[in-house]
Order: sequence, then C-alpha cells, then structure tokens
Amino acid sequence: MKIAIIGAGFGGLAAAYDLRKAGHEVTIFEAADYVGGLSAGFKAPHWSWSVERFYHHWFQSDRDMLGLIRELGWQDKVIFPRPKTVVYYNGRFYPLDSPLAALLFPGFTLLDKARFGLVTAYLRYLAPWQPLERYTADAWLRKYYGARLYSILYEPLLVGKFGPHYAEVNMAWFWARLKARTTRLGTFEGGFQAFADAFAAHLQRQGVAVRLNTPVEHIRPNPAGGLTLELPGGGHEDFAACLVTVGPSILARLAPDLPANYLDGLLRLKSMGAVALVLALRHRLSEEGYYWFNLPKSAGFPFLALVEHTNFVSPEHFGGDHIVYCGDYLDPDHEYFRLSHEELLARFLPSLTRFNPNFSPDWVRQSWLFRTPYAQPIPLLNHSRNIPAIRTPLRGLYFASMSQVYPWDRGTNFAVQIARQAARLILSDLAA
Ligand SMILES: Cc1cc2nc3c(=O)[nH]c(=O)nc-3n(C[C@H](O)[C@H](O)[C@H](O)COP(=O)(O)OP(=O)(O)OC[C@H]3O[C@@H](n4cnc5c(N)ncnc54)[C@H](O)[C@@H]3O)c2cc1C
Repeated sequence: MKIAIIGAGFGGLAAAYDLRKAGHEVTIFEAADYVGGLSAGFKAPHWSWSVERFYHHWFQSDRDMLGLIRELGWQDKVIFPRPKTVVYYNGRFYPLDSPLAALLFPGFTLLDKARFGLVTAYLRYLAPWQPLERYTADAWLRKYYGARLYSILYEPLLVGKFGPHYAEVNMAWFWARLKARTTRLGTFEGGFQAFADAFAAHLQRQGVAVRLNTPVEHIRPNPAGGLTLELPGGGHEDFAACLVTVGPSILARLAPDLPANYLDGLLRLKSMGAVALVLALRHRLSEEGYYWFNLPKSAGFPFLALVEHTNFVSPEHFGGDHIVYCGDYLDPDHEYFRLSHEELLARFLPSLTRFNPNFSPDWVRQSWLFRTPYAQPIPLLNHSRNIPAIRTPLRGLYFASMSQVYPWDRGTNFAVQIARQAARLILSDLAA
C-alpha cells in the first residue's frame, strides 16, 4: 500500500521505519530543506558536531527513543554526561538537581527540605496522574510544597514556561515532568542532527522516499476510498493512508474535510511558541561549569533559561567556540517574535554579565536566532478529555503530534512513542 507521512521530525521518521518494515511503499513529505523537525541542528563550517536550533537532550528514562536507537544498532553513539543544573536565589546560582543539593540549598528551611523530599517522593513513586489533572499545578504545588518553596522553585518555572497561562496548567503536567526526568542527560555523537541524518539515510536505503522542500497544501478524501495529497505547483498524489505529524492548527488547515467537532477540538488546543538565541562565544561563560540555568523573570532576566551547551558536550567539537542558548517560551504574539535579531541581541546580551562579570559583547563571535510558534502544548484542567484521537474520523487519515502525548510533556521520546503507536494502528486498519 502507498502511505504518506507529513513531517520528517523524529516522529515521522520513526513511523516510516515501522511502515516500511511491514512492506509498504512510504513517502515522507517535509516542508523544510532538512530532516529532524523541531530537534534539527545546524553547524558552522569549523564545527565537527551540529548544535540543535533549540536546546535538546535525552533523559535516561527515554525508553522509546533509546530503544529505537538500539534497534538501529547505534547505542554506542549515545553519550550520557551529568551536567549541572542551577536555580537562581537571592542574586546567586545554586545546584538543585539531587537530594544532596536540596539539603544544602540555603533558600529552604528544615521544614521546606522535609516537604521537598516527601512531596517529591510521593509524586515520583506513588501518585497516579489521573486525579491530578483536576487541579492546577499552581494551586497543588503551593498547597503541598508550601508558599516559600513554591515561590522559589516552581512559580518561576510555570510563569517562564506558560506566561499568562501559568495558573491554568494542570498538575498532571508537573507530575509527568517529575516522573520522566533524570540528572544524567544524553545526546548523540555529532548532535541530534547527526542522528536524524543517519536515520533518514537508513530509511532511504530501505526504500522510503524523503521529499524535502515539499509542503503539503491539502489532504482530501478521494472517490477510491483513499486520500489525495495536494502538493506545491498544482501536483497531487494518491495514498491509501496518511500520517500527519505537524501541530493541530496546521492539520486543521491541511484537512478542512475533517468533521466540525474534530476540527473544533484541534483549534481549541493551546500552545506556547519558543525563541532561542544561540551564541558562539570566544570564552566560557559559566566559570563553575554550569550547563542549565533556570531563571525567574521576576528577577529581571529577559529570558527563561540560559544553557551553556559546551558545559554538556566539549567545546572541542565546535572549534573551541563556547555555545550558549538564551531561550524563552512565549505566546506567539509576543514581541520577541517580531523583534529583529539585532534588537533581541541588544535585549539579551547585557544580562550575560550576571553569569560572568567579565562578559563583554566582543566575546560573541557569531549568533543565530530561531523561533517557532508551536513549541509547548498547554494542558488545561481535565486535559485528557481534549486529546484528539490518532485515528481521525476521515478514513485513512491519522494524527500524531506533541499535543497528544499527554500526560507526558512533549519530547522526542514521546514523538517516537506516539508515531510508532500510529504506525501500528495504520497497519492493523490496512490489514482489516
Ligand atoms: C525549545 C524546545 C526544546 C525542546 N527540548 C527537548 C529536549 O531537550 N529533549 C527532547 O527530547 N525534546 C525536546 N523538545 C521537543 C522535541 O523537539 C519534539 O517533541 C519533537 O521534535 C517532535 O517531533 P515530531 O516529529 O512530532 O514533530 P516536529 O519535529 O515538529 O516535525 C514536524 C515536521 O513537519 C514539517 N511540516 C510542517 N508543515 C508541513 C507541511 N504542510 N508539509 C510537510 N511538512 C510539514 C515541519 O517542517 C517539521 O519538520 C523541545 C522542543 C522545543 C521547541
């Protein structure tokens, strides 16, 4: 059977792998001129590794992602360093990524420390997620961790990640975050782009067609009972089935023949966009070697996270450049989506002296700006009722996106998991 996949992100590639293995004729349509989707990277000419446009790493608990890499026989290419994550408190940065670090953290009283341990253990090992989606993370965390701990640790995280929607996000989102995280963080030798390129090349050797620079315009049901994809320049092609891996609002535009209630459901889903300014610096920024800085906006930082990538993987892969991200999650109508690259540099660079007093703008050898309107789904109360089904009501059309991996937070692991679930569904429907 001919099967189309829209999107060459990690999800689209993983589904193509299973569908091709089952003997079908698979074509991936990708709007961009590269594979990897939101996890794609880029490379300056003197770098031997790529760096992700948006900071990326894996957790040791990423079973589906790491399992897929094992199936491909590439597990030797995955590395898991233990970089340091810090939070801001009273003008300084402190590690807070282990039980010992929590015990030493000066911002907590003895009672806070006991609560931190007990509530975290309850969430991580005992609590089922379903009842938690009835509460907002704001109310639940404030009540059980206490107002002080909440205001130091979790309120800045929620405000930073969800902006004006921070008090609407449900507690199951936080549960999933806590459950899936590990202190060791992983990446692929050469960067995520090296994995995506190797995977796409492997698929092509198996006979999958990967058509870059080909944004699908519409998906229509056809009289033969399949689907017709309308392509740029007036072309069209028929398929027995099509898996879409783009965001819900794009699916609604691509497939206007979907029934009104499914379309309404897609359009009601909310998400945040992301902005990442990537800097190649002549010197190391964090002299303590910190990788990830969680920043409270209330302390005047103009972005949510500063990530020194070369404190996670060595600068030797980047010709000695020190790679730093200034990243933020924002409503897609926020001014950061309109400001020019130079305007954002002018907003962001002055704050870098808060990480290293010696920083000066002439440390910046080069910079890149990446923005996406679809970066982080927003799970509201009782969100499980709002998840669109993978098998859409339009015969042969399937949907697997970041917005459906709930209660898990979006991530490549869950992109692979849901895409492979969709592939199994397609195979069983085609066999029926
Ligand atoms: C700021 C940020 C940080 C992140 N950090 C991490 C992390 O640390 N670890 C982690 O595992 N995950 C992380 N993620 C999440 C991860 O990037 C996503 O979960 C994953 O990339 C989703 O893969 P996907 O295949 O479902 O979708 P996508 O990667 O979004 O792929 C969809 C593809 O569809 C293409 N497309 C769109 N419209 C069309 C069209 N009309 N026709 C053809 N093609 C089209 C797009 O160009 C894109 O390539 C992060 C994401 C962001 C934004």
